[in-house]
Amino acid sequence: MRAVVLEEYGEPLSVRDVTVPTADPDGVVVETEACGVCRSDWHAWQGHGDWVDDRVPLGQILGHEPVGVVREVGDEVDTLAVGDRVVVPFNLADGTCPACRRGRANYCEGATALGFGPDAPGAFAESFPVPRADVNAVPLPDGVSSVAAASLGCRFVTAFEALDAVADVGDGDRVVVVGCGGVGLSAVQVASALGGTVVAVDVRDDPLSMAAEMGAAETVNADDAADVPTRVAELVGGADVSVDALGSAETCRTAVDSLASGGTHVQVGLTGDDDRGEIPLPMDAVVQRGISVRGSRGMPPARYDDLFRLIASGCVDPEALVSATVALSDVPDRLAAMSEFDTVGVEVVTEFS
Ligand SMILES: [Zn+2]
Ligand SMILES: [Zn+2]
Repeated sequence: MRAVVLEEYGEPLSVRDVTVPTADPDGVVVETEACGVCRSDWHAWQGHGDWVDDRVPLGQILGHEPVGVVREVGDEVDTLAVGDRVVVPFNLADGTCPACRRGRANYCEGATALGFGPDAPGAFAESFPVPRADVNAVPLPDGVSSVAAASLGCRFVTAFEALDAVADVGDGDRVVVVGCGGVGLSAVQVASALGGTVVAVDVRDDPLSMAAEMGAAETVNADDAADVPTRVAELVGGADVSVDALGSAETCRTAVDSLASGGTHVQVGLTGDDDRGEIPLPMDAVVQRGISVRGSRGMPPARYDDLFRLIASGCVDPEALVSATVALSDVPDRLAAMSEFDTVGVEVVTEFS
């Protein structure tokens, strides 16, 4: 079968034939119907993450935002059958460690990550294996299309967890989202659905227009505003919640500086080569103004039902983030376009042969 394989960091990705996977006793094999293309794939391709021992190994099949149909089921799997449509969170949990038992499977101590770990070939392929499938494959309700579910990807679930579970955004909260890529636009949509008044910040006009369509009450082009936090203060009086959806010293600092007293910053963007995970923050201001700084990654599989309910209510529309559907053979070019920030919204692979 065909798959997108990382052969050299930063060199063109290869689309080539690989062995068809088989199911472990506790796993399933899923035939891929759709898989989102994500900046995390770009980070993996660039070889980022070595500063936190999280560099993706060469030879990896990428792709971590899949939807598909179960084609093979291991003997020990209780909850799934051939033909079930499933979405698979990228963080493949063991289901047994202390974090999993506390309902925090997205921080599983024994996790591997779909499309990133050597034991977890990804879903830029005609099919992919899911280990411990009772924990890690989530049946899709009828009515959620494959493209919509793939666009939930890591970005929408990450945004939902960060804003709902971590920052507890509710009616009237002022939320500033810095960086309007896939996760940023998801955050705009989710924060608006939760009742927040959202200010979206980027340096590009097209994503800001999209943010306005996603529900942002205000948009700020950081290249035009002399000082973004001052502009946020003028617009909404400072933010109760800030999100850095890109992951750089500049965007993180902009987000934190935009908070009102008592506000909460949630970091969801991972850094690149410039910052290598280290971002200075104004800690005296954090103390004097009672600011909280949090991080958030992914979402426990058990919370998908809450997200599906929000989708069914019509309050969020993940498919609205999708700007294009592409073929497997397009993935190398689409990731290369991310180097120039030359993509808007979310692109989803729907053609795999
Ligand atoms: Zn675990
Ligand atoms: Zn992703």
